[in-house]
Formats: sequence, structure tokens, C-alpha cells
Amino acid sequence: MKKPVIAIDGYSSTGKSSISKIIAKKLGLVHLDTGALYRGITWFALQNCIFEDSSIDLKKLFSSLDQIQLEFKNDEGELVLYLNHIDISRQIRTNEVSENVSLVAKQKEVRDFLLQSQRNLAEKGGIIMDGRDIGTVVLPDADFKFFLTASIEERATRRYNELLELGITADREKVKENLIARDKIDSEREIAPLKQADDAIVIDNTFLSKEGTIETILSYLQNI
Ligand code: C5P
Repeated sequence: MKKPVIAIDGYSSTGKSSISKIIAKKLGLVHLDTGALYRGITWFALQNCIFEDSSIDLKKLFSSLDQIQLEFKNDEGELVLYLNHIDISRQIRTNEVSENVSLVAKQKEVRDFLLQSQRNLAEKGGIIMDGRDIGTVVLPDADFKFFLTASIEERATRRYNELLELGITADREKVKENLIARDKIDSEREIAPLKQADDAIVIDNTFLSKEGTIETILSYLQNI
């Protein structure tokens, strides 16, 4: 029997990735954090395609996309992204990347570039993908779709703590502003905006722990 395809979308810092990772492990599925793909392209742009004032030269990025080789290495069920053979897991979490990623992610050229590789990974089933447009655009036929949301204060606290854990210095107010700015750009963009699929199960986890959210999702996945 083909293993299921599960889409988990939602706002920034609702715990999508860490929750998806744990569920994937429990159910023997692989997990892909699609935000890492957009962050990876943004990291590449910040290294290779910037104007003198340090802003991103989008035209140069578009013409450089063919120089980007993305590979996914399966690390115990977690698909780790390598960009041009470099593991960029840590680099993509910096503030600089967070501040620029939504601008990069709203570009059609970038979304087109990443679409097929995401779909290819889901072809054989057995995957949980988390992102913003998985249930609506990337995998509209996913077997299960969830949409996570939580209050901005709660999300800001979570992201702030996550950065501290990664050893990245942060200012909580700035973290909150970045979440608000990203949500706005992500929700208002023309292509593949952040929105819940009509058939998604919505979970507001403002007052729910990570374990509680996982239990809720698992309760829908009982018979797989
Ligand atoms: O999930 P994460 O917060 O790491 O995503 C970073 C950014 O990547 C989002 O704010 C959004 O701009 C973009 N993104 C996207 N579509 C996805 C996943 C992420 O546009 N499927």
C-alpha cells in the first residue's frame, strides 16, 4: 500500500517543522521542511547576488538559478538540504536570511524553480511536507492537510527561544516584527500565497503544547 502524503501549512513559528519531524519519525515517513528551500535560495542570493547597498539583485538571482544544485540527504528520515554540496542547515537560520526570505519567496521564478523538486519528492508517498502552499499548490491531492495557527505573541516567544537555542543572538521585538512582516508578504503575494486549503484541518495551538499539537494531528492519522 502506498504510504500517505501529508501537508502541514501555516503561519511562521507555529511549530510546523519540529512537529512534522516528530510525526514523521513516529510514522516512519520522511520529512521535508520546504521553508529551508526558500531560505537556501535566499542564502545563495545573499552570497552571490547583491547590489552595493547589500540588497538582493533579483535579476542576477533569476539568471543564476541554474547554478544552484539542490540535493536532499536522508538523515534518519529528515531530508537535509545541501546547496551546491554544502550543508547549509545552520546558515539559513540567521536573521539576515529571515529578513530577506519572503521577498525571495514571492518571486515566480524562484517558486517555479522549486516546485517540481518538491512534487518529485512526494511522488512515491510516505512524506510529510511543511510550508505555506503545500496543501494548496504543491500537493493539492495530499491525503491529509493541516493548517497551523497561533497568536503572534506566542509565535514570537517560540521563535525567540528557538534562536537562543541555536546560539543566535536575537531581540524579541525584532523577531516579532520579522514574523509580522513575513506573514504579511507571504499572505498577500500573488503566487501561491499563505492560506489554508479548503479541505485542511485547522489547528490553533496558541494554548497547546508541541506534544498536544502532535497528539491532535496523530488522532486524525490513526488508521494509516
Ligand atoms: O518555514 P519558514 O519560516 O522557515 O519559511 C521561511 C519563508 O519561506 C516563509 O516566510 C515564506 O516566505 C517562504 N516559504 C514559502 N513557501 C513554503 C515555505 C516557505 O513561501 N512552502
